[in-house]
Amino acid sequence: GPEYVRAIAPYQAGKPIAEVAREFGLDEASIVKLASNENPFGVPESARQAMAAAVAELGRYPDANGFDLKGALSRRYDVPADWITLGNGSNDILEIAAHAFVERGQSVVYSQYSFAVYALATQGVGAQHIVVPAKAHGHDLPAMLAAIRDDTRLVFIANPNNPTGTFIPAADIEAFLAKVPAHVVVVLDEAYNEFLAPENQFESAQWVKQYPNLLVSRTFSKAYGLAGLRVGFAIAQPALTDLMNRIRQPFNVNSLAQAAAIAALNDQAFLQRGAENNNAGYQQFVAAFDKLGLAYVPSYGNFVLVKVGDDAGAGARINLALLKQGVIVRPVGNYGLPEWLRISIGLPEENDACIEALTNALAE
Ligand code: PMP
Repeated sequence: GPEYVRAIAPYQAGKPIAEVAREFGLDEASIVKLASNENPFGVPESARQAMAAAVAELGRYPDANGFDLKGALSRRYDVPADWITLGNGSNDILEIAAHAFVERGQSVVYSQYSFAVYALATQGVGAQHIVVPAKAHGHDLPAMLAAIRDDTRLVFIANPNNPTGTFIPAADIEAFLAKVPAHVVVVLDEAYNEFLAPENQFESAQWVKQYPNLLVSRTFSKAYGLAGLRVGFAIAQPALTDLMNRIRQPFNVNSLAQAAAIAALNDQAFLQRGAENNNAGYQQFVAAFDKLGLAYVPSYGNFVLVKVGDDAGAGARINLALLKQGVIVRPVGNYGLPEWLRISIGLPEENDACIEALTNALAE
């Protein structure tokens, strides 16, 4: 295989509950998984019903153009339906963008400590990485702008960012977009957008009308509770969408996912409940971190990055102590943050169990 493929370190997903149960001799039902920024309420009831109705049609291929889902998204975000690309999760969108816009040997800009798939998508097309040092664990947009070269074709920006939870205000992103050269596509990855407080929300989908090289990426995996179905989408002008549409897999979003996403999109009550639970759970965690004397990065997502020690072994050590107590969180050594752990915000009782296990682990 190509050297650039052999150089890829595989994506490290959260450990599955069944695997942890086997490995540590635990009862699956007792395990708390706060490792993958999933929705603690699971699948919305509205989406379950939509899927049940869609099962009868599973003998047929899904709608390759996602007519109904794109229609619903088009109305929601006030953009034409042909400005939307559906993805098998938003990871698929990120990868399609790399394939559609970047040639082997060209370069891609992203931030240190930003989402791991940016590196994978870049390497997957044999492109060069330009990794810009983070500022206070977040994106340094002026430095990212300065890092753009003639051969740069793509910039990835995560807002909020995973795994650090940092947030970039609208004005900073607009200032960046106004200066980005026309030969660069900016992927604004807003996987955690729905967790932002109303005062931090902005109409990024509308910016697409103003910036022909902007692509906004969203997902149904987080706030909408559909991570297992794999559905995300991009909004961009037709010149970009057209290229992405040529190389995506024809049936990349399955019919259950399309049906469930439409239902979830219209389920404002589910979103509201999730946001409230997330805000309360975040307060629960940071109060505990303060009590334990642990530093954390203020988070705008459904997870929080916490520093569990000063030595490079701290993250792995505390992670193991948590696993033994049946709590799965995410070590972030692969992001260059070996003293930290990323904890997803769960239900109040899950958060309590995690805090108790963390307290024990630190006392060991
Ligand atoms: N972007 C960011 C910043 C993420 O954290 C994630 C999920 N880990 C994704 C994109 C991809 O999520 P999905 O493929 O489930 O939409």
